[in-house]
Formats: sequence, C-alpha cells, structure tokens
Amino acid sequence: MDLKEKIRNVQDFPKPGIGFKDITTLLKDKDAFKEMVDIMADNLKDLDVDVIVGPEARGFLTGAPVAYAVGAGFVPIRKPGKLPAETESYEYELEYGTDKIEIHKDAIEKGQKVAIIDDLLATGGTMEAAVKLIEKLGGEVVSIQFLIELEFLNGREKFDGYNVESIIKY
Ligand code: 5GP
Repeated sequence: MDLKEKIRNVQDFPKPGIGFKDITTLLKDKDAFKEMVDIMADNLKDLDVDVIVGPEARGFLTGAPVAYAVGAGFVPIRKPGKLPAETESYEYELEYGTDKIEIHKDAIEKGQKVAIIDDLLATGGTMEAAVKLIEKLGGEVVSIQFLIELEFLNGREKFDGYNVESIIKY
C-alpha cells in the first residue's frame, strides 16, 4: 500500500503558508494504520527495546500501538504542567522563542533500551529535546522512528550516529 496517499495535505494550517501533513486520514484507515504499526515494529524487531517514548500528542498515536506490537512499555513526553508526578524537563529553541517538554523522572531506568516514535520530523527540535531528556535519565536511544520525514528541512542532521528511520518522505 502507498501510505503517502493516505496523508492529507491541509494548506495554511495552523498558519498561512504552512502545508500541514494530516495523519488522521491514515489512522482512520484500518489497513493503513496496521501497515504503519507493522513497519515500525519490524524496524525494531532485533533491537530488544524496553520502552517506547512518544512526544505529545501524535507520538502517542504512533508510538503506543507499536509498543504493544513489540511488547515494550510506553512512556509519554508532554508539554509543561501535564504530568502529575516529579518531572525532568528540557527547554529548546524555536524559530521565535523557546519550548519545553517534560518526562516523569522515574519513567526510564538507567541502561534501558529506548525507541522514540513521533509522527513527523520537521526541523528535529522536538526529537532532539526528547533524546536529551531520555539520555539525562540514563536511557539508551537505540532507534528513532517517524511516520513522515520532511527531508528538505534536513532535521535528520541533528541525529548523527543515531538509527533514524521514516516511512513517508517529502
Ligand atoms: P520539529 O520539532 O521537527 O520541527 O517538528 C516536529 C513536531 O511538530 C512533531 O511533534 C509533529 O507532530 C509536529 N508537526 C510539525 N509540522 C507538522 C505537520 O505538518 N503535520 C503533523 N502531523 N505534525 C507536524
């Protein structure tokens, strides 16, 4: 199946000039959703992953089903103030201003093998912050998976030496 055909491009969302890649059209299609999960699970099959981490909110939709498929745990990364227990946080630069993400301090044990899954790689800022948080907790990032990669933004350059894979490329 051509999964790219299942992605809807929404022009001028959330701001004029941006062509938003809408994954809901893929997720609602039972065959496409299964294929996405199967491909990511297959990419992870020899890596002995303990935990899959997914950044809010589309990293939950892509990461959690893959965690179930490979028999790993799932850990959410969230925007500030959403996680109830003690957190570790990481602040990162945006084009204008900064953003911050958080993870529970006890979510990952030292030496655990971690795969991070998100829906889309753009500049890589979000994923880079996720990698930093996981490594701060002592996790080993053995795989980084995206459903979509916007190759023209060169976000991949931020992950030299890491195992980065994406299913759909623009
Ligand atoms: P980055 O940090 O790589 O610049 O941006 C990636 C993050 O922004 C991801 O968490 C992703 O969910 C979100 N994102 C940015 N642009 C899009 C888009 O066009 N479609 C979707 N589905 N997510 C996007």
